[in-house]
Amino acid sequence: MKNEAPYYHIVGKEVDVFEHAFKNKLPMLLKGPTGTGKSRFIEYMAYQSDKKLITISCHEETSSTDLIGRYIIKGAETIWLDGPLTKAVKEGAIIYLDEIAEARPDVIVAIHSLTDHRRELFIDKLGETVKAHEDFMLIASFNPGYQRGFKELKPSTRQRFIALSFEYPEAKIEIEILINETGIDIADAKKLVNIATKIRNLTELGLAETVSTRLLVDAAKLIHSGLPKRLSVDVAVVEPLSDDIEVVAALKDLCHLMI
Ligand code: ADP
Repeated sequence: MKNEAPYYHIVGKEVDVFEHAFKNKLPMLLKGPTGTGKSRFIEYMAYQSDKKLITISCHEETSSTDLIGRYIIKGAETIWLDGPLTKAVKEGAIIYLDEIAEARPDVIVAIHSLTDHRRELFIDKLGETVKAHEDFMLIASFNPGYQRGFKELKPSTRQRFIALSFEYPEAKIEIEILINETGIDIADAKKLVNIATKIRNLTELGLAETVSTRLLVDAAKLIHSGLPKRLSVDVAVVEPLSDDIEVVAALKDLCHLMI
């Protein structure tokens, strides 16, 4: 039996872009800060198009071997094990490389031939080239991190993808997301979104990242389960944003006026 459809509120033209990218076999880069619905969107699209989704959360140790595969020793034998990318290429799945810029440079090299007209994967350890299945699709996400501390993606890599930006949704949509995701009532959902809007406009605080929809969903979950509202906002919204005592105190004061 098919799992339940993931809840995703369409924000713009992203579904059309995805469908045309798929039809034209173009890889896609989802740009935007953390918690803006990139992963949820891909889960939703995979579900809607009845495709298998393989997600890899890239980190600084993620190497091409992790993605392509490796030999393992089993008893007296060495056997080859396909990695998730090889599996996706062969089976025609969607591979989602979350935070691709975090991965080691050899990952970018490994996906090159998959991101152009060749659509093939070279498995260096086997000396084999695998042609991608018709339905194979490569999606990556990238957090441009305008402020600091995030790794960059080289222009030559970026130009291998069509790119779609994810931002915080407009207030009306964000309120709906909170209600749908958590069951919180509309009055509290509105207050949370007002808080987020206010903090997002406080650029002078120098926050590396501001309030994401994810943080609001967390706050809404806590409120809905009965934790006092201000405490919920303190622990789900304010504390994750900063470790600076003065900034945290100022944000808490601000939020307490609003909920
Ligand atoms: P990202 O991959 O951009 O870091 P996620 O897709 O994990 O972000 O989104 C974080 C959370 O925010 C989701 O678990 C979901 O609760 C909520 N969310 C954000 N945008 C949407 C949306 N458009 N529709 C439904 N839920 C959303």
